[in-house]
Amino acid sequence: MATFVKGLIGSILVAYLAMKWTAPSFDPESLKGARVLVTGASSGIGEQMAYHYARFGAQIVITARREKVLQQVTEKCLSLGAQKALYISGDMSNESDPDKVVDFALEKLGGLDYLVLNHIGVTRFAMWDGDVDHVRWLMKPNFFSYVQMAWRALPSLEKSKGSMAIVSSMAGKLSNPFTAPYCATKSALNGFFGSLSHELAMKKSNVSISLITLGLIDTESALKAVRGIITTPAYPASEAALNIIITGATRQLELYYPWYTYVMNLFKDWYPSLTRHLIQNALNYDP
Ligand code: NAP
Repeated sequence: MATFVKGLIGSILVAYLAMKWTAPSFDPESLKGARVLVTGASSGIGEQMAYHYARFGAQIVITARREKVLQQVTEKCLSLGAQKALYISGDMSNESDPDKVVDFALEKLGGLDYLVLNHIGVTRFAMWDGDVDHVRWLMKPNFFSYVQMAWRALPSLEKSKGSMAIVSSMAGKLSNPFTAPYCATKSALNGFFGSLSHELAMKKSNVSISLITLGLIDTESALKAVRGIITTPAYPASEAALNIIITGATRQLELYYPWYTYVMNLFKDWYPSLTRHLIQNALNYDP
């Protein structure tokens, strides 16, 4: 048994390190002047991505719903070194705003090099109560708007040999309790953009798609949602943001952050029953 466990840990480690070592090297200069649109950038990981892009000297358009907060984030971006920082408010559950936001970025920046789709609509961290309308609604900001924005930006990204980063979650690879509508939207993203990534490669497109799998990150909204239910450590939003940017800039297909999400992704198919047991017992729930 001990030999088996050692072998298992060894092979996971080798697979993870091989993935890291074969990753192309990142040149920060490549982001100087890069034209970037980041969604969901008024808080959390999106806000941190805006600041990193700013430090790299990029030209940034950010979006979310709260105009006043976006204004403050753009001001900070300019003070950190962004060549340009502009904002446009938009509600991604609305049918016309996703196109409006992409058109604004294309017009103001003269095209796009990076499209970073990161926003999510508000949802409860709780057992599903049968609210079908909420599931239907959540698909709009979390999935349909991503599809719409990607399609709108594609011709410009094609011209600039650009990249898209699709911020998904471990919840899109491995279903968790208390997040049924959210899991559904993240699985939809993985399915759709995984397929689109194949199609672009087969068409010899210039555009790369990076699918981002995140574990628990220490953003205010995430910590508030899981308080008292999950005790797993949360990883820093700023580091998650930097890893997403590097993954997009180096045109890698996937990012797993933090490292344990990679292990969980392998583990879930090797040991499905054990994985179910561990997930259900990792949550504080008293029926
Ligand atoms: P967050 O802090 O809650 O930020 C969400 C962003 O989306 C905010 O800027 C919010 O701004 C915007 N937003 C909310 N509703 C919107 C709407 N209807 N239309 C447009 N924008 C809207 O989230 P986060 O924790 O940084 O998460 C960022 C991404 O990482 C998400 O895709 C999430 O699924 C993924 N992720 C996070 C974690 C984690 O533990 N934090 C784990 C796995 C994956 P406004 O309120 O101003 O609109």
